[in-house]
Amino acid sequence: MLYGALEAGGTKMVCAVGNENGEILKQISVPTTTPAETMPKVLAFFKEEPIEAIGVACFGPIDLRKTSSTYGYITSTPKLAWKNYNIVGAVKEALKVPVGFDTDVNGSLLGEVTWGAAKGLSDVIYITIGTGIGGGVMSGGRLLHGMLHAELGHMLLEKEPEDAYAGKCPYHKTCFEGLAAGPAIEARYGKSGKELAGEKEVWELESRYIAKALMNLILTLSPKRIILGGGVMHQEQLFPLIRRKVTEYLNGYLETEELKDMDHYIVPASLKDDQGIMGAIKLAMDSLDGKGE
Ligand code: ZN
Repeated sequence: MLYGALEAGGTKMVCAVGNENGEILKQISVPTTTPAETMPKVLAFFKEEPIEAIGVACFGPIDLRKTSSTYGYITSTPKLAWKNYNIVGAVKEALKVPVGFDTDVNGSLLGEVTWGAAKGLSDVIYITIGTGIGGGVMSGGRLLHGMLHAELGHMLLEKEPEDAYAGKCPYHKTCFEGLAAGPAIEARYGKSGKELAGEKEVWELESRYIAKALMNLILTLSPKRIILGGGVMHQEQLFPLIRRKVTEYLNGYLETEELKDMDHYIVPASLKDDQGIMGAIKLAMDSLDGKGE
């Protein structure tokens, strides 16, 4: 059986056709400009393919409440052309197949839980640290939605005393994203993360912010594994620093088998940056089990 997968991102739309093993058979990418310009190209790709269902893993905030009159809409996004855009409606009307819908980060989480670094686990957090910070949560085998969906990137963090940078988030200044996303690193030092790869103190500070956020998440959601993806996490030197600091901050408060084995508790994304599009395939598969619209 063939499934459509759409990873709707703020800069590009990745469109793919895949199968039940998560294999991507065909893939294109369309720049995200305006719905009027972008969506016809996206839908034209899928119209040529004999897909049984489609999964949409979408940038947000989005409306995931099935009973809401704006279910399937992109809601209060700062990408103004997409504000209040009914993406699920557009896909459904054009393709006439079931549509699975969730956040981009829940999509990546689903990819990793189904085929990657958290295969078979029921309590997992996926965080992407790149141009923004977002996170998906699975608890008891279900993706966490709640009132809307989790926005892990905007939790407030305690600023490090030596950090003179005011914070990048237009809403909260010193939230996780405001202190630790790629643009915050660049604004703090005047150079991109890539250019700063060899600067030890940059990653020391970055690892402290990430570890603080992870400590909050470990204590509130009790995940069995945490997966870190996104462009900033391509700086692999961060992983040992983060693991050490999480242990230090927890300060022995929790004793579990998982926390004794930090190398397998806090892990990199494992699907070569295909976790999002593979997760969208799983969203499509799940929509045929009655979980979609
Ligand atoms: Zn924020």
